[in-house]
Amino acid sequence: MRRGFSLTALLRATLAAALTTALVVPFPARAGGPLYVGGPNFGVDGQFLTWDVSTPVPYRIDGGPLSSKPDGTIAIDNATGATRVNSMFLNWENVPTASIRFSNAGAIQNVPPGFTDGDVDTVTELNAVKGDCNAGNQNPIIFDANGALFNLLFGDPRVLGFASICKLDSSTGRIVSAMAVLNGIFQDGISSRNNYELTTAEFDEVFIHEFGHFAGLDHSQINVDVLKGQPNSCSSDDLAGLPLMFPILFCQARSAASLPVLAPDDLAWISHLYPETGSGAGQTPFNAAYGTIRGAVFFSDGISQAQGVNVVARRISDGNALNGDETRRIAFSAVSGYRFTGRPGQSVTTNSPPSKFGSRDSHLIGVYEIPVTPGTYTVQVESVNSGFAFGSSVGPVDPPIPNPGLDEYWNTAESATDSPTASSTVTATAGQTVGNIDIILNGTPKRFDAFESAELWQPDAPPLWLRREKSAQELLAA
Ligand SMILES: [Zn+2]
Repeated sequence: MRRGFSLTALLRATLAAALTTALVVPFPARAGGPLYVGGPNFGVDGQFLTWDVSTPVPYRIDGGPLSSKPDGTIAIDNATGATRVNSMFLNWENVPTASIRFSNAGAIQNVPPGFTDGDVDTVTELNAVKGDCNAGNQNPIIFDANGALFNLLFGDPRVLGFASICKLDSSTGRIVSAMAVLNGIFQDGISSRNNYELTTAEFDEVFIHEFGHFAGLDHSQINVDVLKGQPNSCSSDDLAGLPLMFPILFCQARSAASLPVLAPDDLAWISHLYPETGSGAGQTPFNAAYGTIRGAVFFSDGISQAQGVNVVARRISDGNALNGDETRRIAFSAVSGYRFTGRPGQSVTTNSPPSKFGSRDSHLIGVYEIPVTPGTYTVQVESVNSGFAFGSSVGPVDPPIPNPGLDEYWNTAESATDSPTASSTVTATAGQTVGNIDIILNGTPKRFDAFESAELWQPDAPPLWLRREKSAQELLAA
């Protein structure tokens, strides 16, 4: 785990210098599922900000190579990179319960005078193309073939990719434009070049992760205790339940463990944002495949709702060892209060101005809703990992707060003094919501003001990025 502060200082300084128009969408209200939620004067209050998917979402691809070597020769050419972009978007498009579709609209369009040569490989060009994205004109997928742009933007050789929603429509609540940038240095075939080489399968996951943000998805935290183990050696059970939208690339590629590319949580959330209603070929209606577990997280007083607590629903094991450990493999999550603003704009806990995102309905401060496949679950609460801040943030409160109480399970006798390990089960049925799965935290400090966010401080909103953790060998070498 790494704290983001030094990175963020760099990020903010360089973004301010290099991408003066980059931060058109400041102060997001983010969730374990949707990246943005509407506020009272922005989009639809409390509703996810999503693409209009009545037609496919068009994207445009950089004209340069995906990856180049230090001597300038090409490691992965443009055609191969473009084919991978198309193919990686399909991972989201092919989710049968989700209605989002994408289309390749061709090359990134010129933005004279800043960008005219087809290959986005200078900061001037990136700035021009980002500006055009901010204007809502195009959705660029950019290859930073030698990592030079990432180096300038982040000053951190571990940043694999980032995505940014460029423009939102405040009246319709729709995403208008977005972009993603991939760091080709991880695919140059050289592992000693101040960074680490990824396998093709691992880098494919970087594409898919960034395209998840492009589609409007936030990070998710499930099986976070994999971080206590060694990189690239996660158990099959842990990996199966680990969202592809987990903030950092830590485990081996899912395909290396013969797992589907998207985890249950990824499938659930893309489907919740873009619920399929049809039942034609390749389609399954969302309501026929998912139910919802809903509740709120409360301080020990049982009255005040707590925002920013990660809630995980885990499937009960069927006891058949051949199926692995379902409690780890089949899990879904949301962060409490994800529809509520992370920044209400009072002066008690933050000096920042109010966010335009997120509801001000105080009944939503601690509410969570988790889409789940039908089955029987436990529900538990935990802190969002302290390292998941800024570009790696999860949920509405960034930087995250510790769970104000103890980590615990929900049970039918919830109280501020119940056993944290006492759990009851929740059975979810397709098309139905199981409500009132409310968790009263144990031993919390004085409750927050009833109309107060937990947030302490928020910098300018950076783009979301995905980082690579060092392998065990690299840690030893360092
Ligand atoms: Zn990310």
